[in-house]
Amino acid sequence: MASKKTGSFCSFCGKPKDEATMLISGIEANICDACVEQASKIVEVEFGNTVKGKKQAGDLQLNLLKPHDIKQHLDEYVIGQDQAKKVLAVAIYNHYKRILNSEDKDEVEIEKSNVLLVGETGTGKTLLVRTLAKILKVPFCIADATVLTEAGYVGEDVESVISRLYQASDYDADATQRGIVYIDEIDKIARKGDNPSISRDVSGEGVQQGLLKLLEGTIANIAPEGGRKHPDQKFVKIDTRNILFICGGAFNGIEKLIAKRLNNSSIGFNSTKKDRIKDSDLIEQIAPSDLKSFGLIPEIIGRMPMITFLQPLDREALQNILVKPKNALLKQYIKLMELEGIKLSFDKKAIDLIISKAVEFKLGARGLRTICEKLMLDVMYDAPSMKEKEITITADMVVSKLADLDSTKAA
Ligand code: ADP
Repeated sequence: MASKKTGSFCSFCGKPKDEATMLISGIEANICDACVEQASKIVEVEFGNTVKGKKQAGDLQLNLLKPHDIKQHLDEYVIGQDQAKKVLAVAIYNHYKRILNSEDKDEVEIEKSNVLLVGETGTGKTLLVRTLAKILKVPFCIADATVLTEAGYVGEDVESVISRLYQASDYDADATQRGIVYIDEIDKIARKGDNPSISRDVSGEGVQQGLLKLLEGTIANIAPEGGRKHPDQKFVKIDTRNILFICGGAFNGIEKLIAKRLNNSSIGFNSTKKDRIKDSDLIEQIAPSDLKSFGLIPEIIGRMPMITFLQPLDREALQNILVKPKNALLKQYIKLMELEGIKLSFDKKAIDLIISKAVEFKLGARGLRTICEKLMLDVMYDAPSMKEKEITITADMVVSKLADLDSTKAA
């Protein structure tokens, strides 16, 4: 209750007690519910980011996953690709440590190590990063390099990547500055040929230069939550110095550049070196100079010190992908049928044929889904009206359903 001295009205807005929903009394003053709400908003705007930032750093300390834990989590969903998993696990772990030590001004400053994932399409680059995102305690977003253009051109300019991270962090500027961004298809912004372009290159080198700024560390000006409503409204300034960038790309044809380099460098003393390396293993030898030959500018390569590769998927890996992970494709169909009260199974020979088709497609694990969708369409169409409670997918069914999927016959 308000004291006699302060009277029965809000000391901030002067509203009388009977007009306010609630009036809270202090020693020398009163405050109404509306003023409490307004004051709370002011505090949140002024200090909210700092408070949220401190809380998040605390969460990180508590949940600091060690590289082994991170890899173990990745193993549940992603088959093989051990090298890439290790590199990512270390990069994420060090990223956390850098954040936790960022206020230690006297300490050695830990520099960030952005990561480049090189691997054919459908080998699990995006899956790896998406799986990581589930356990990350920092904001995370995925952007596609192909839609980026230089500022001023039609398309999204590179700062839009940071806008997306800002949205992912729930408009928390502090948290955004510690986030992780995955930039897919970075190979698509390589300049064509090994020569610097003479004319301006909308989708290539110019975009690389823009991305370089983000990777190096710049202050990006981002529209505030809900966009800028009037021209005087301030941009949110995001420092990208501590944002971790993971880039990925298929770099089609890079094996030829690797082979060429290995051959060149071995002239005279180890001319059989290239012959000893299988084509599919060449990717393991990837070096920064191959990326330069492919068309990435040296500065951007220099900003991605951790380069790793994803192996092309062989038959065994494809088979494992089909049946092993927690959400394996065949498990999904079995579950769908289970919901109809039908027991679905696949003959071993049928699985072999599906894999042969996927190998033929050369789309990595991506092909598996297309093949299975085609194979299962009739089954899924008929099943809900069927009396049988068991369906077995046989080799004969695979051959007949997939006969027209490609001109070349399945094995
Ligand atoms: P990309 O390398 O082109 O980014 P994706 O990660 O998008 O390939 O893979 C496409 C799909 O193929 C994934 O959603 C997943 O179902 C499957 N896949 C690819 N690689 C693997 C893998 N190593 N382990 C498990 N599933 C995989």
